[in-house]
Amino acid sequence: MFYNIPTKLFCESSCIANHAADIACYGKKACIVTGKNSSKQNNSLDDMVNALTVIGTEYIIYDQIEENPSVELIMEAVSCVREFEPDFVIGIGGGSPLDASKSIALMLANPGRDKTLLFDIMSDYNAALPVIAVPTTCGTGSEITPYSILTLHDKKTKSSIPHNIFPVLALADPTYLMSASDNILKYTAVDALGHFIESYINSRATVISRMFCEKGMSMWKQVKNILQKTERTDEDYETLLIASSFAGMAISHTGTSLPHGMSYSLTYDCGIPHGKAVGTFLASYIANSDAVNRHAVLTLLGYSDVFGLQKDLKALLGTVEVSRQAYDSYVNEMSQNKRKLASCPFAADSDKVAAIYRESLIEIKN
Ligand code: NAP
Ligand code: FE
Repeated sequence: MFYNIPTKLFCESSCIANHAADIACYGKKACIVTGKNSSKQNNSLDDMVNALTVIGTEYIIYDQIEENPSVELIMEAVSCVREFEPDFVIGIGGGSPLDASKSIALMLANPGRDKTLLFDIMSDYNAALPVIAVPTTCGTGSEITPYSILTLHDKKTKSSIPHNIFPVLALADPTYLMSASDNILKYTAVDALGHFIESYINSRATVISRMFCEKGMSMWKQVKNILQKTERTDEDYETLLIASSFAGMAISHTGTSLPHGMSYSLTYDCGIPHGKAVGTFLASYIANSDAVNRHAVLTLLGYSDVFGLQKDLKALLGTVEVSRQAYDSYVNEMSQNKRKLASCPFAADSDKVAAIYRESLIEIKN
């Protein structure tokens, strides 16, 4: 048994203002890392600036984080804020700014090191500056995970950096979700569903990680209902955000599995949003797992068979079109991805990988 989540998490409305004193513990100079627009529209950036003003903390804002941030963007952000010499980093937004804030915090703690440090855990280096995370989507759970997933243009894919950087503090305010479009809510909630499924059907699953998955998957019916609503209540947004954080707690212990590994090429090559790309493979991952896990997961999610889940995912996400050539290369690459294959608790060979692709929501275009 193993439990390790060193993040202090609060989830409530007015969360940032309520916990300004907690923010003050991390120093006198903050670097805020956020996306281009959404944090200005949903007041999360204003709330943070007001809290920092109240506690007398100076700040600098880097607001150019794009979806699926690349190594190059991290280095650009670091070069813009380095001279300010921040004591800590605050990520505000979806998974992209939160993940970026972790990599930026690592690079800021290591002046003089180049981008190779992001993927180097063997040399001597300083621990990342403390990170505070303010999530404004309901899927990645990045506020409570140690992962920072970056786009690698040289490899034409995405990958988690090998450093474990847990935020020290997560301030989750459900009201920030109110500005999110139906698609953002759908895609990010399906990402959280993927975290539950891939953490449960995982060779690293433990009694603790499964505890989060069991609770989270039993919430899926409620989450699905919330996604279908045209008007949502405050409690609905809170439910979405709590489910997302539970899913982050689960993958913090296990990591993800094949659907996430398979999603990265769809995002890189076709620009498919992360949650939609993950959801493309979830039902077929369950269908090709062992009978015990398949039955347990479907029962927790409230389905009698995998077709019910696939039908719901197709209604929520639609399908993804891929060329025959790209499709074949994806199957081939994943069949050789030893790390992701090892995360499956069932025998995952190239036939299994091919079956997961074949039964996914991908349509091959000729
Ligand atoms: P995202 O890429 O952070 O943001 C997607 C879009 O949503 C952006 O256009 C953003 O706008 C907008 N947005 C964010 N919050 C909003 C709000 N409250 N209202 C309106 N628009 C809003 O999306 P994400 O799905 O949350 O994050 C995906 C990234 O997280 C991927 O890179 C994925 O690999 C990573 N991820 C990380 C973990 C982990 O454990 N660390 C787990 C799963 C996935 P702005 O750009 O203007 O902000
Ligand atoms: Fe994810």
